[in-house]
Amino acid sequence: MTTTVVWHPATRLHSAGAGHPERPQRIDAVLEALRLPDLKESLVWVEAMPADWAALERVHSARYLGALEVLGNQGGGTLDADTIMGPHTWQAALASAGTVIGAVDRALAGPGGGGTAFAATRPPGHHALAERAMGFCFLNNVVIAARHARARGAERVLIVDWDVHHGNGTQALVQADAAVRFVSLHQSPWYPGTGAADERGVGNVFNVPRPPGLPRQTYVRDLLTAVDAALAGWRPDLLLVSAGFDSLAGDPLGGFTLEPEDIAEWTAALRERVAPAPVVGVLEGGYRLDLLAAGARAHVRALA
Ligand SMILES: [Zn+2]
Repeated sequence: MTTTVVWHPATRLHSAGAGHPERPQRIDAVLEALRLPDLKESLVWVEAMPADWAALERVHSARYLGALEVLGNQGGGTLDADTIMGPHTWQAALASAGTVIGAVDRALAGPGGGGTAFAATRPPGHHALAERAMGFCFLNNVVIAARHARARGAERVLIVDWDVHHGNGTQALVQADAAVRFVSLHQSPWYPGTGAADERGVGNVFNVPRPPGLPRQTYVRDLLTAVDAALAGWRPDLLLVSAGFDSLAGDPLGGFTLEPEDIAEWTAALRERVAPAPVVGVLEGGYRLDLLAAGARAHVRALA
């Protein structure tokens, strides 16, 4: 089996300024790790097309998109305390959204429609709301992917988010949409403060807030237990993984204790649970470059 890595060179052009943890070197570290010789036979590389406006408008308002474009063309600006546009951020955000669309297309086109792909996104997306950038995120890549898949005929889409931060943007965008189920394991209390277990949407939201420092097996088990609850009597046509690697032990922005082997275990367990549905990994956070690279490798290797 092979998996497809969908990427775009413009994803490295976004800069939020010196010293910002969401830095261009992140995508370099991920792509370099995936280009190591041992994965060569397992991976197909595809350069994405930037996302078109119609795909973005399934998630964000035209007013918001237009405002981002104008701000980008003016050289950028500060959208919230830690979410800053530079002169090339809009180009990077369109490229980032394009990688998830390309990855969904590749996965749906895989053997029997059950292929796998990894979208090497940057900037990340799971904090972005319909009309608000926050938490380093401008466009909600994973929801753009879900809506694109729905437009292509997928009736049910499962999103599993193991980034150490709650995917508040994803939840807000899908919580009234019974065609999408959202499962999130995240540190609590922690940024952005949402993601309590009693936030259930229309019964389609499954939050697993957990304190830092638990044994890694506990996090592994608790996410899969929530996924099993989401899958009870409900078969998705596509699994999207919001794959943040800031949940690995040692990340400067999180306190979880996971190791790259746990990422591999999750990926394999999730694939098995949704089979024969296609699976797409979407890069979210991860702020220590060596851990980010190791986590992405473990995830992509298990996708292949
Ligand atoms: Zn994160």
